[in-house]
Amino acid sequence: MERIILLGPPGSGKGTQAELLEKNRNFICLSTGDLLREEIKKESEFGKNVKHYLDNGLLVPDEIITEFILETIEKNRFFEKKVVFDGFPRRVSQADALNKKLAEFSSSIDSTILIKLDKEEIIKRLTGRLVCPECKKVYPASHSEICDNCGAKLVKRTDDNEEVIKKRINVYNEETAPLIEYFNKLGKLIEIDGNGSIEEVHNKIVEVINKQ
Ligand code: AMP
Repeated sequence: MERIILLGPPGSGKGTQAELLEKNRNFICLSTGDLLREEIKKESEFGKNVKHYLDNGLLVPDEIITEFILETIEKNRFFEKKVVFDGFPRRVSQADALNKKLAEFSSSIDSTILIKLDKEEIIKRLTGRLVCPECKKVYPASHSEICDNCGAKLVKRTDDNEEVIKKRINVYNEETAPLIEYFNKLGKLIEIDGNGSIEEVHNKIVEVINKQ
């Protein structure tokens, strides 16, 4: 499998699983959330334009994000590489644009893996989690405040507070969940259970990839 999308509600572990696929299976991870947070940290013009959306749990408008991601794909020739998409597409319009861009290079998405998780577990995971501002690794609340990977001091994401989390879940249900039916109709949807340890979920994803 060359190009896969990880789909799922916030907190389902898309970022963590994408990172593991990068580490263990030679995928390149394209995480839109990480790219956007990087731009905000750099205080670039682009970062300034998108900050408000991230802080409020809203999706960045297509006019801003889609072109940015499609350019990244083209510039890095991701259409011919093993790539895992984490956080893109998040709307049907984005999926259409992505499919069209890949088709220009006779490429396509092979599969979309939906990581399923219920609302209580999402809130429990997100309100406690910590992230490394340097290498982006994500940790549960029980972890010490230092990143195992690079030694930086861990922080909470500014959008990981209960009010914004609820908003992000609503936005997911309204704007992103229609992608489930979209990829199902294309015969490209595979569902897995997002409960269980990081390793268990990783093994399920690897099993899916190996079967294709
Ligand atoms: P994530 O790290 O994937 O949870 O994304 C964090 C935030 O970045 C989201 O709540 C949105 O504000 C923004 N974002 C990430 N990916 C997209 C996308 N494909 N379309 C619009 N906004 C996005």
